[in-house]
Amino acid sequence: METKFSRWMRQVRDTRDEEIDCSACLDQISQYVDLELTRGEAAQVMPLVSHHLTQCAVCREEYGVLRELAQLEMNGAMPTEEELLDQLQRPPESTQ
Ligand SMILES: [Zn+2]
Repeated sequence: METKFSRWMRQVRDTRDEEIDCSACLDQISQYVDLELTRGEAAQVMPLVSHHLTQCAVCREEYGVLRELAQLEMNGAMPTEEELLDQLQRPPESTQ
């Protein structure tokens, strides 16, 4: 039988397991921005990043910058070097 205490302990442990640190967040943040701008469901797909962003001002700032850049790219205002390389390396529309 599960006591209140053991349930509480499990919740604490689960919560900790689900948290990511700044470097893990920054690793995933460009993917997160990508998802958000293309599919609008970044928070559902990457809840850990979303959660971290609500708690961490440093990552939130980084996210804001990346998001702004990504939006410029989407508007065709500023293709980055990375984007150009990506297009060169990818076979044309092989996924669809
Ligand atoms: Zn952070």
